[in-house]
Amino acid sequence: MKILIINCGSSSLKYQLMDMNTKVPIAKGLVERIGIPGSVLNHRPADKEKVVIETDLPDHVAAIQVVLDAILHPEHGVIKSLNEIDAVGHRVVHGGEKFSASVLVDEGVKKIITDCIELSPLHNPANMAGILACEKLMPETPQVAVFDTAFHQTMPAESYIYGIPYELYEKYHIRRYGFHGTSHKYVSQRAAALLNKDIADLKIITCHLGNGSSIAAVSGGKCVDTSMGLTPLEGLMMGTRSGDIDPTIVSYIIDKEGLTAQQANDLLNKKSGVLGVSGVSSDFRDLEQAAQAGNYRAQLALDVFAHDVKKYIGSYAAILDGVDAIVFTAGVGENSPTMRESICNTLSYLGVSLDDEKNKNARGQEIDISNPEAKCRVLVIPTNEELMIALDTEEIVAGQ
Ligand code: AMP
Repeated sequence: MKILIINCGSSSLKYQLMDMNTKVPIAKGLVERIGIPGSVLNHRPADKEKVVIETDLPDHVAAIQVVLDAILHPEHGVIKSLNEIDAVGHRVVHGGEKFSASVLVDEGVKKIITDCIELSPLHNPANMAGILACEKLMPETPQVAVFDTAFHQTMPAESYIYGIPYELYEKYHIRRYGFHGTSHKYVSQRAAALLNKDIADLKIITCHLGNGSSIAAVSGGKCVDTSMGLTPLEGLMMGTRSGDIDPTIVSYIIDKEGLTAQQANDLLNKKSGVLGVSGVSSDFRDLEQAAQAGNYRAQLALDVFAHDVKKYIGSYAAILDGVDAIVFTAGVGENSPTMRESICNTLSYLGVSLDDEKNKNARGQEIDISNPEAKCRVLVIPTNEELMIALDTEEIVAGQ
């Protein structure tokens, strides 16, 4: 069985064509800077040379088309026909209260995903675009939606209830849902394996730091709290999202700037975060470069981001009553030694002690970057949401 896994982020798209006999991808790749000048596809067929395709990609439909073209290409492709793909597994960000597990996509599922766009305006449209594009190009191929919200369903009420009238939860299901669940689940399981410990005995804080960022407190393999909320806007400051702010700021800027509620929502989702603070970019590589060149606001954005992450680690250590391991994953967490150092440099009270050399060189592989005596281990674990999505998709398609 071959499964195509599509993971549409707000500015990136990861894909893998997975051979389920070996659980190894026969091709994978990453489209970056979707909707930003300089879009690029890095396509990596397993047994052939990597190809870099630079082409203008205004949206996710265009991005999926270029991925399918690459997979089918006579030279760098890996299959001859789209019929060779048995199923498509899609990462879907928000399933509201309707989905606590993965599902086969049908008209009803698509309607609910579309209804959830107001809760996840950056991601659910990208996810739906992926589903619709695949349906058009592969109408006979089953498609499965795997929701980011599922892993966080184990949170206790004290974590997911907000300090607003309880009736609003009862009427509108306004509560913390949490996102990046597939990633937090995967890296917490891999952390236990890397430490050679039973996950049931571990308290882990997983830091998914990318263009979108979230942190989860995981006790005994179950999520007990997470930083994103009703929507992926809450929590850490992100690429373009504000993260936590005083709620009064919203009515204040609506009043002062003459904005509609939707415009204010757009401002907080698309023009804020490190982009808004720096005025330079939402991309952390651009920020690190600008900060090195002396740009004060780029450095400030990086400092605020590191400060936010530290605050969440501290609060989750309190909730967990200690922490055995902190995991860094996703674009920034996996690739930025300077950000990891900035976050960890005041965590000695938790027993964190980084091996500077290991931190500097950690990229793209699972590694413990702590000094041997450190009580709290710090791990870099590349996320593999695709593998988790593929396994769920296989199970659902097999049960059809
Ligand atoms: P993701 O959303 O997980 O794909 O992560 C995207 C983010 O990771 C972007 O802001 C990138 O700038 C950032 N990123 C990727 N590689 C690096 C790197 N080497 N150093 C710093 N940030 C990076």
